[in-house]
Amino acid sequence: MTIPLLAIAIGSYLSFERAIETFENSESRRLEELFPLDRLEDSLMKASRLLKDTNDSRNGQSKDNFEILSREIEQTFTQLLRTPSQLAERRSLILGIQREWQETKGKRKQFATDLTPANRASQQRLRSQIDQHLEIAIDDIRRLNKLLTNFQMIDNQNRATEIKQQVRTATILTGTVTVLMGMGSAYFLARSILKPLKRLNVGVAQFGEGELSHRIHLETGDELEQLATTINWMAENLEKNQQALTELATMDVLTGVFNRREFNRRLTIEIERSRREGHSVSLLMVDIDYFKKINDTYGHQSGDDALRHVSALIKAEVRPGDLPARYGGEEFAVILPYADSNDAFVVAERLRNLIAAQDIAIQDGQTIKATASLGCSTFPADAETEEALMTEADAALYRAKRGGRNRVCIAQQDISVTTDMAVGRSLPSLDRSGTQKSGLPNN
Ligand code: GH3
Ligand code: MG
Ligand code: MG
Repeated sequence: MTIPLLAIAIGSYLSFERAIETFENSESRRLEELFPLDRLEDSLMKASRLLKDTNDSRNGQSKDNFEILSREIEQTFTQLLRTPSQLAERRSLILGIQREWQETKGKRKQFATDLTPANRASQQRLRSQIDQHLEIAIDDIRRLNKLLTNFQMIDNQNRATEIKQQVRTATILTGTVTVLMGMGSAYFLARSILKPLKRLNVGVAQFGEGELSHRIHLETGDELEQLATTINWMAENLEKNQQALTELATMDVLTGVFNRREFNRRLTIEIERSRREGHSVSLLMVDIDYFKKINDTYGHQSGDDALRHVSALIKAEVRPGDLPARYGGEEFAVILPYADSNDAFVVAERLRNLIAAQDIAIQDGQTIKATASLGCSTFPADAETEEALMTEADAALYRAKRGGRNRVCIAQQDISVTTDMAVGRSLPSLDRSGTQKSGLPNN
């Protein structure tokens, strides 16, 4: 971020330095131009004085001095004409001054060659012509001096304007780059911090609302990603714990089917659905016969084995949408959604037959046999509420027990099964005439 600003600063410094350097150059050029002019003016004034001396005293020393001065003046002219200048008129003015000097020198020569008193008038004239030439030359020097100074001033003003422009450009450039960099930084800040923070926030809010399966995806490669990983890990653990708790709250630990509380909840749901959609839902109550005897004869552990065996059998035999549960002790309940009395009876008979037919493996490699009695009821044919449905199924079960066990009874109906039924193969004929009879003989 500092690199562009540094580049602008260095660029600005170099450009100012160049501008100041041109100032310095023009100043030394001005001195180079003006100094010889001053010297020339000085020399011409000296010459004027010497010429006066020569005139008055005819002094040989003055004559020599004039020669020396004259050489100096010539050298100054050479130097002046050699020095280049941007002022166009300078050269022509210097040449004019040089001409005046040549005239002066010429007139002086004439003056020196004819110094007889008879020529006094002519000397006077020459004298005044010399003065005039020198005066014109000195005036021109001063004019040139002034012109050069003015020219220099204008040049300086132009340079100052140029520098001002450069300062303005540098300021605008710096300001623009700073603003752009500010915007760029804000954008990158938003991208690198605010966006991930927002994701974290949304993720945590979703966890707060119970959506523990949600995961925060961050690939920033920094602490925020680590934080997201930690939060995801916490959510995963919470989800697992919640699943375990849900299982504890809804499942029977011994048999792995729904417990009584969950059974009640599911029954309410299915009855409601049945009401809304206008279809039947049936209920089976399954009670193992003489279970106390199993406990008493083979021990409680074997009783548990038998419970696990029967529950596994029920689970395996019903459809995926059916809901088996342990209602209590050695009693199971099965909710059969979309099943009417006939369907329920078929399922019940199949279960009864299988329970009676299969060996139950218990402790020490032994096997035992068991039977079960079943009561069925159907909503809404037999009952209008879930409590009534339970009562009807219980009553049917009681009748099955009373009727000799290992049989199926259907609520409000007496059924008679005329032949032994192969498991689940055919429907029994239902009537309301006599007591129920199961398809298999009692143990
Ligand atoms: P019935 O044919 O009339 O149903 O007779 P039953 O012996 O099966 O019925 P009863 O109600 O007299 O006895 C049920 C027994 O079930 C009593 C109880 O000790 C036993 N029991 C209840 N829960 C469990 C359990 O979780 N494990 C075991 N092993 N036994 C249990
Ligand atoms: Mg029993
Ligand atoms: Mg019982």
